[in-house]
Amino acid sequence: MNFNEYPIESLMYITNRPEIVFTHGKGSWLYDNNGKRYLDFIQGWAVNSLGHCNDGMIEALNKQAQLLLNPSPAFYNGPMAQLAGLLTQHSCFDKVFFANSGAEANEGAIKLARKWGKKFKDGAFEIITFDHSFHGRTLATMSASGKPGWDTIYAPQVPGFPKADLNDIASVEKLINAKTVAVMLEPIQGEGGVIPATREFMQQLRALTKKHNLLLIVDEVQSGCGRAGTLFAYELSGIEPDIMTLGKGIGGGVPLAALLAKAEIAVFEPGDQGGTYNGNPLMTAVGYSVISQLTAPGFLEGVRARGEYLRARLLELSEERGFEGERGEGLLRALLLGKDIGNQIVEKARVMQPDGLLLNAARPNLLRFMPALNVTNEEIDQMMSMLRSILDTL
Ligand SMILES: *Cc1c(COP(=O)(O)O)cnc(C)c1O
Repeated sequence: MNFNEYPIESLMYITNRPEIVFTHGKGSWLYDNNGKRYLDFIQGWAVNSLGHCNDGMIEALNKQAQLLLNPSPAFYNGPMAQLAGLLTQHSCFDKVFFANSGAEANEGAIKLARKWGKKFKDGAFEIITFDHSFHGRTLATMSASGKPGWDTIYAPQVPGFPKADLNDIASVEKLINAKTVAVMLEPIQGEGGVIPATREFMQQLRALTKKHNLLLIVDEVQSGCGRAGTLFAYELSGIEPDIMTLGKGIGGGVPLAALLAKAEIAVFEPGDQGGTYNGNPLMTAVGYSVISQLTAPGFLEGVRARGEYLRARLLELSEERGFEGERGEGLLRALLLGKDIGNQIVEKARVMQPDGLLLNAARPNLLRFMPALNVTNEEIDQMMSMLRSILDTL
């Protein structure tokens, strides 16, 4: 393989990457520097909601690129206001702050909760989070995360994030004290292995946080923006949180994230929060195209139908191969393998010929599926048949 064109050795080593360079993509397909194509069920880690190089996004990018890239975050621009309006129109929230990454949006949520605690709750600052949760890679969001080992890797941690167990309301109640200001969770733990919080647990959490005058923060960086079959996953449990964060799918592949809050919670004062690229018109114009497409009539119904289709196919496969079933919502699903063969399958899927298949093992004993939300049933069938042929070789 000739990498002369691509001086990959200049890149800082942070993870093991396969020796291929992806050059272009369309819809559910990615192409590498050797011309090989791959059926993509990772989609940039549940990021490319509308698949690779979506026409509407390209049009929005081109149009905005000719108009205005960056007036400064100290001024209004059209796309930032239009996207904020679209998000408040389609959610239970009133106020939006845009950021560049999920971690940054979560940092904003943590700061907003602490500010609210300072103002209204006698300086309360502790935010209860959950074991196996994932909230990002900044120091505070790593501290909020419940990923094993993350408490020591860059110690000392940012204090104030006691951990409870998902779907166990007593474990949350036990941690509440005078310093508690909020509970923060992913409605569906993504990196933890696609583990949904139950509807009952979400409702119990809402009641418990109301009772103790605590904020409920949902990290919908992965579960939001149509991924769970509703525009936001909190809708599935019939509750209204106080704060929500979005990332990944909101930009459909460009760096965009958002922090949303109810009007009475949005207590930042000038100077409390900011960021050079917040509300950048190039990115928010793309986000506007993405959210417009997701909220177009029939789109989310289609996501739910394709989610059900994928679910049924995974269950068939599970029965056929003696696996342990599947779980998830919409088009964020996991196949429970019952043994640690996930990474082996992922590897074989990628190198398979003539076409490769991109899959992810969020944990060694499961496969996570996060295709484009406009994936077709035919592409799901194609993925299943490729997966079967890999399983035959194990
Ligand atoms: C990916 C993810 C994040 C971090 O987002 P970045 O854009 O990588 O900073 C935070 N929370 C959840 C639930 C995620 O899945």
